[in-house]
Amino acid sequence: MGDLGQPAVLPVSEPRPRRIGVLGGTFDPVHIGHLRGALEVAESLTLDELRLTPSARPPHRNTPQVSALDRLAMVECAVTGVSPLVVDDRELKRDKPSYTLDTLELMRAELAADDQLFLLLGWDAFCGLPTWHRWEELLQHCHILVLQRPDADSEPPDALRNLLAARSVSDPLALTGPSGNIAFVWQTPLAVSATQIRQLLASGKSVRFLVPDAVLAYIDAHGLYRASN
Ligand code: ATP
Repeated sequence: MGDLGQPAVLPVSEPRPRRIGVLGGTFDPVHIGHLRGALEVAESLTLDELRLTPSARPPHRNTPQVSALDRLAMVECAVTGVSPLVVDDRELKRDKPSYTLDTLELMRAELAADDQLFLLLGWDAFCGLPTWHRWEELLQHCHILVLQRPDADSEPPDALRNLLAARSVSDPLALTGPSGNIAFVWQTPLAVSATQIRQLLASGKSVRFLVPDAVLAYIDAHGLYRASN
């Protein structure tokens, strides 16, 4: 009871908005460039969850070399036990092209209005944004975090200049609100690509230390990417 015989009112702590990251990709195969970048972003931005979201039929690129199930299984091998990285397989369940905007709309609908959604894009993917389906609407649903890639050109395409001028903030830790801004994030530069890994495997070379051991074991067990495939 309070001093005047009134019941004491305990302060009710508001739940803090959740912070969810999304890294889409073909993951053909997933590699340390994806994983290290994802983990560093998740830690530096104190994300509650970072969802690696393999795409089924990527609208902008060549058909992946191995099946969606194999790509999904490799991502699962890679993130098992690596909190807060998780796999989100919703794009593989959709029988339409995997548009990132659709995925973000679905995720947003599952979150509270003030939860923060962060779309992670490597610099190369960010530069390709103007070719994406309804790309101007992406920032209605999420913030965009651009991961620097060591092999990146330094200039963004003209179509992104106005957007960057209007929406970019210099400190990713200062991003507030559920969506709407762009920030560049520093990460340990790792000039690794899935293309390079496929080429090494096709020529009979090792990809040890470029992918997690569990992913390497999966590739070997299923004979993926070897020249005979
Ligand atoms: P590929 O060589 O087949 O084009 P990739 O290695 O670029 O593949 P994706 O699955 O296309 O891999 O990439 C998914 C996302 O991860 C993209 O936003 C991409 O820019 C980013 N990414 C890939 N590799 C790196 C890396 N080494 N460093 C930072 N970001 C990366």
